[in-house]
Amino acid sequence: MFSIDKTSILVQKIMFFLGGTASCWAGYKITQGGFEWKKSGMFISYGEFKYPVALVFIVNGLLFIWYSFKLKEKEFAICPKCEEMVELHINKMPKCQKCKIDMEPLNGFYKEQ
Ligand SMILES: [Zn+2]
Repeated sequence: MFSIDKTSILVQKIMFFLGGTASCWAGYKITQGGFEWKKSGMFISYGEFKYPVALVFIVNGLLFIWYSFKLKEKEFAICPKCEEMVELHINKMPKCQKCKIDMEPLNGFYKEQ
C-alpha cells in the first residue's frame, strides 16, 4: 500500500551523532593545544583563540548529537474512510480533502510491521 523509508532516518541519525561526536572531540583537542599529526609533523593550533574556537566546535557537536536524538520517523494521519494519508507537520489533525472528515493518527503502524 505504502512504504516509508526507515533506513534513511537511521542513517541520518548515525551520521549526525558521529559528526557531533567528532566535532566535540575536535573541540576538546583544540583546548589541549591543537591537532598534531606525528607522522607528517603537521600541527594546527589556534593559539589564543583556542577556547572560543573549541567552544564553537563543542556547541556545534552537541547540537548535532541533540538533533540526532530528536530526528524521528515522519508521522502520518490517515482518513478512516478513503485511507488517504498525509504527513503530519503539527499536532493538529487535518481534515480529509475529499471526505471532509477528521483524519486519524497512524499510531502503531510501525509496531505492527
Ligand atoms: Zn477521506
